[in-house]
Amino acid sequence: MSEPTKAAAPAGRAATKKELPEHFKGYKHVWVFIEQERGQVHPVSWELMGAGRQLADKLKVELAAVVIGPEGEATRQAAAEAFCYGADLTYVVADNLLADYRNESYTKALTDVVNTYKPEILLLGATTLGRDLAGSVATTLLTGLTADCTALDVDADGSLAATRPTFGGSLMCTIYTLNYRPQMATVRPRVMQMPERVEREPGRIISHPLGLVEADIVTKVLSFLPDRESTNSNLAYADVVVAGGLGLGSPENFQLVRQLAFVLGAEYGCSRPLVQKGWVTSDRQIGQTGKTIRPKLYIAAGISGAIQHRVGVEGADLIVAVNTDKNAPIFDFAHVGIITDAIRLLPALTEAFRARLSPHSRDRIAS
Ligand SMILES: Cc1cc2nc3c(=O)[nH]c(=O)nc-3n(C[C@H](O)[C@H](O)[C@H](O)COP(=O)(O)OP(=O)(O)OC[C@H]3O[C@@H](n4cnc5c(N)ncnc54)[C@H](O)[C@@H]3O)c2cc1C
Repeated sequence: MSEPTKAAAPAGRAATKKELPEHFKGYKHVWVFIEQERGQVHPVSWELMGAGRQLADKLKVELAAVVIGPEGEATRQAAAEAFCYGADLTYVVADNLLADYRNESYTKALTDVVNTYKPEILLLGATTLGRDLAGSVATTLLTGLTADCTALDVDADGSLAATRPTFGGSLMCTIYTLNYRPQMATVRPRVMQMPERVEREPGRIISHPLGLVEADIVTKVLSFLPDRESTNSNLAYADVVVAGGLGLGSPENFQLVRQLAFVLGAEYGCSRPLVQKGWVTSDRQIGQTGKTIRPKLYIAAGISGAIQHRVGVEGADLIVAVNTDKNAPIFDFAHVGIITDAIRLLPALTEAFRARLSPHSRDRIAS
């Protein structure tokens, strides 16, 4: 779901809202945790600034970014950049003990800032880091957290309506944290639209101390080894994705997907059964329990289009489905449907694109 305001269902809310306890009444404003690791801000943080802006505007409150990291240029830059994505102010906890992500130190930093400045809504990316941090911050603050949301909205009385798939993706449910604050939610990368970046001078920056020494932190980081596999796959942010499903019939035929992706300069992905069969690694899985993608072009070959797959791809600008079954569910949401055998079509497409995209193709066409 692409629109942050799309799936909330305030009218159907059944829960009873008690009077918010007195000590929560001062909680105000929308916050987004800006995730940075080794000097790189994760793009999901900017996507959440877009969603946060819409919530803040509806509530008529401010949108704040929270940047946690080591002292120095990278943290300063992340704080400044937050203004270009719509922040009204930024909270910064900068301390060299925060150079590497550690649950204890980051939980302390974020819960301290929350307890001091009291936001009503706190959003984090559902990345590995964000999931780890959100869970421990929510349990430390004794508040509710809705994970992996696909839409966020504010209902008539100003509560956060956090919508996510449930029952294996066959139903969407909207979850409220009515009597506790802040209302927390995580959202996976690429679920929300990236807002436009607008060059702006940094505004209000509020620094907050960490208040920890190294001896207080049980976890020690001895060295950092990047995961070479995961950096190979840039599925979530790829402009073109080619994916295959069980209809391809064998791991050998899956090579046809990889070949087409290679010629197009695209990323390749797959449906979940291919991961379960061990044909493809799990970082390539697309869908509810895999990656959400938002490419300009998505080519799905031999994929039926089950709801759990659909929720991960429907943000694509153009979906081209290749399937032998004209009644396959994927044709309900594909923009272009090709009813044919993918095992025959994929090599033909690869050859056609190879000829078209080769640097010498113009000479060949001309001759
Ligand atoms: C909790 C839960 C989470 C899940 N998460 C995910 C997820 O993240 N991602 C995901 O993908 N699935 C997920 N699933 C699984 C999902 O429900 C489907 O089972 C799965 O997506 C089906 O994969 P498929 O389309 O490859 O296979 P199938 O459903 O078996 O479809 C194969 C398709 O290929 C077509 N076909 C056959 N031969 C050819 C050919 N030669 N050429 C072209 N087409 C052909 C068939 O007509 C059929 O439509 C999840 C399920 C559950 C319960």
